Amino acid sequence: MNYLSTRGHADRKRFCEILLEGLAPDGGLYLPETYPQVDTATLAKWRTLPYAELAFEILSLYIDDIPAADLKAICAKTYTAEVFGTDEIVPLRELEDGVYLEALSNGPTLAFKDMAMQLLGNLFEYELARRGAELNILGATSGDTGSAAEYAMRGKKGVRVFMTSPDGRMSPFQQAQMFSLQDANIHNIAITGVFDDCQDIVKAVSNDLAFKRKYRIGTVNSINWARLLAQVVYYFAGYFQATASNDKPVSFTVPSGNFGNVCAGHVARMMGLPIQTLVVATNENDVLDEFFRTGVYRVRAAVDTHETSSPSMDISKASNFERFVFDLVGRDPARLRQLFVDDLGLTGSFDLSADPAFKQAAERFGFRSGRSTHADRLAMIRDTEKRFATLIDPHTADGLKAAREQLTPGVPMVVLETALPIKFAATVVEALGEEPARPKKFEGIEALPKRVVQLPADAEAVKAYIAQHCD
Ligand SMILES: *Cc1c(COP(=O)(O)O)cnc(C)c1O
Repeated sequence: MNYLSTRGHADRKRFCEILLEGLAPDGGLYLPETYPQVDTATLAKWRTLPYAELAFEILSLYIDDIPAADLKAICAKTYTAEVFGTDEIVPLRELEDGVYLEALSNGPTLAFKDMAMQLLGNLFEYELARRGAELNILGATSGDTGSAAEYAMRGKKGVRVFMTSPDGRMSPFQQAQMFSLQDANIHNIAITGVFDDCQDIVKAVSNDLAFKRKYRIGTVNSINWARLLAQVVYYFAGYFQATASNDKPVSFTVPSGNFGNVCAGHVARMMGLPIQTLVVATNENDVLDEFFRTGVYRVRAAVDTHETSSPSMDISKASNFERFVFDLVGRDPARLRQLFVDDLGLTGSFDLSADPAFKQAAERFGFRSGRSTHADRLAMIRDTEKRFATLIDPHTADGLKAAREQLTPGVPMVVLETALPIKFAATVVEALGEEPARPKKFEGIEALPKRVVQLPADAEAVKAYIAQHCD
């Protein structure tokens, strides 16, 4: 399997070459040259597989430069009941007739990013050992991504993590999750500033090519293809749990921010998994909902990006969206460049409303969308607790609200649960007047010793810190 860039670069690469990379050299995103097709006989064989074996089968179609036995061992080591809480790994729960929640949030940090990041940690360790190389991961987080990365990379040989976060701006629970890690290869850096300052620092350090090369700086952001690929697996696992046979369509609703999660659903659908509809759920930051309603993709400025009670969906632009648009315009890199380089670069938006391709988003690719507000989230959390005795987090509430607007009789609707309520306790308390239950392993974590350094919002200070801690 070879990978190409959405922007048309001539190079073709294999999986392990792009594993440790971010963007393609021309600024595009990597995609497989073709989507492997899965027929009904294969689906029948896969239906009864344990999650780790299903992951191996799907990953094998995209990874041909890791020996099968090694890849199988990596999957088996990653997807265990010990790490994810149940044998099913992603158990499905029926809320009411035809409406399901797929639990993706029972990994180490209680959010769905663990599903991909835990695999990435093991793939990185494997590939770095094979090359005899080291990698220093530099990131910026306002919560979920940073903790998922740290829990995936802790104790891994060949990897260090330098994670910046805005000092004092994460929830006490999120801070405790990250700062209580005592592993020598994990470095928490609290920046005096806001999340944008952290992102600017990461950009500045990455743009210093000499520093980047000397200190082998890498990232684990959501455009990484391996992360997206790992997420394809739970669409198959959800499908098998929601159906008794492989001729039945299923729809999914996905609380969305950077479009990574739902893009994995798109890949599963392109492989032939019988997905009828993919519902993109957004909060007040509705750049994606606007596109699927109108055909206009209009990125927001920082000042127009709302701070909401589903903060992991607070985005100004959706970094994985380019992958889907590439398929939408018939994989034409010239057209893609016109939209993402020329139009977006000049005007901050592009308009496909008059292009025949836009209709295909719904008709051929099955996309729908929805949007919710803080009041909708509170109402959905209350309603779900009252009628089904089930607590959901505000991101999952965004999903459930959009899902209810897109139900088709006879087609199961699976809503992806992207975080547990304890991670966003303040909003759950606002809705219900009570604290969500906390899993045993997180009891009292706020009182644990914290391992964090404070630095000013200055790229040079962060560079000095990295250089000091790299030998
Ligand atoms: C990251 C995240 C999302 C958004 O996922 P994308 O892949 O960026 O679309 C939704 N909910 C939670 C809880 C998250 O952590």
